[in-house]
Amino acid sequence: MTINGPKEALTVLRGARLIVGDGKTVHERADLVLAGERIHEIREHTSASDDEGPEGVEVVDCSGKTIMPAIVNPHGHIGYMRGTTSDAAFFSEENVLDHLRRLTYHGVSTFRSLGTDRDGVELAVRDRQRAHPNADPELATLLSAGSGLVAPTPGAPNGGPFFAVNAVHETSGAEDATRFVRHLAEKNVDIVKFWVDDRGGTKAKLGPEIQRAVVAEAHRHGIPAAAHIYTIDDAKSAVRAGADVLAHMPRSARPDSELLDQLLEHDVAVFTSMSIQGPTSSDWLNDPLVRDITPPAEVQRLAAEIAEREPEPLFDTSETYSRLVDTFVLLREAGVRLVFSADTGLLAQLPGMAEHRELEALVGAGLSPAEAIGLATAEAARHLHLDDRGLLAAGKRADLLVLEANPLDDITNTRRISSVHLAGHALDREAMRRNWQ
Ligand SMILES: [Zn+2]
Repeated sequence: MTINGPKEALTVLRGARLIVGDGKTVHERADLVLAGERIHEIREHTSASDDEGPEGVEVVDCSGKTIMPAIVNPHGHIGYMRGTTSDAAFFSEENVLDHLRRLTYHGVSTFRSLGTDRDGVELAVRDRQRAHPNADPELATLLSAGSGLVAPTPGAPNGGPFFAVNAVHETSGAEDATRFVRHLAEKNVDIVKFWVDDRGGTKAKLGPEIQRAVVAEAHRHGIPAAAHIYTIDDAKSAVRAGADVLAHMPRSARPDSELLDQLLEHDVAVFTSMSIQGPTSSDWLNDPLVRDITPPAEVQRLAAEIAEREPEPLFDTSETYSRLVDTFVLLREAGVRLVFSADTGLLAQLPGMAEHRELEALVGAGLSPAEAIGLATAEAARHLHLDDRGLLAAGKRADLLVLEANPLDDITNTRRISSVHLAGHALDREAMRRNWQ
């Protein structure tokens, strides 16, 4: 075979099925040519491809395997989980870095943390990555909202999420919110996050005036704003305030036509965030992808927690889950912009595994596997304005998963990972695994 052009080291991944990541295109048998950290070209596989490559070209036989782009997750919380428990006490730079490794091990190239940074730890990691891109290919690319904003609740402790208390800013009013968002903008946050809802009746809601102040100041700096919402009314008030993203679908009831019109009119992105709500089975804990790197006692602990969990807003019942599926279908049919979100890093959302479970949840809600993969790759990268990744196409970063089995037959085959390549670098997943065992 002859390959013209690039001066970088060439690798040919030969003969695999390619799922391009655009939600539809599949090459049943192709050769993927990588040049350094980029994809050089995709060629249909021919008998001539089986010839020895030119000298200096590494040829990897991928016959029978499937290649898809690495996953991009625009919504999670990093640094709080240890084993299978999330707690504010676990948050540290070391744990943030450990999670970024767990993500790449599972084939996630890029992760945006949404509002639970503490002491600027995430932002410092992100800034180091930007100063030295690809310095450590085992780390997923991190984007961060820094610390988000909540309403203070009289007599209650800090209004952060249960696993990340004290990580958020309790804002006293519109003026204070404006000041805090300006301070976030100075740190060049990738998005601004605010919590609107009352977290199951335990906290004060964030008033509309403060929401408007948060969004206006974020937009003044060219930064998008994301709202955590629970009810239909939460969603409407966040959209009225100008929020660009809802971090969840409404979960209290099916969206009405007023909300649908608002979402469409303002082109608001709605995060899928389905796997975090259930369904309640814990079969996935037996997957080797979990077992290989999670101590058995931790797996048992989480299995017991899932089996015993009470119906409550965060760990939902099957009834509310089926309503969530209805809502997903409704939003999709209406043409609302749905964006992949695994809400990783709390409850049962193990870093890396949560992203694969979200893919399964999306197929369970009616997407084809190719559409679900498209949402988790090219579409998610587009949402983050990262046009260098998320797609198997010439010129894009060579961020990809080589799979032993075909996820178009069964979406859980995205977990049968043979290898992960990030910016053209094949991760030593065996060494990573040994480190965790
Ligand atoms: Zn979240």
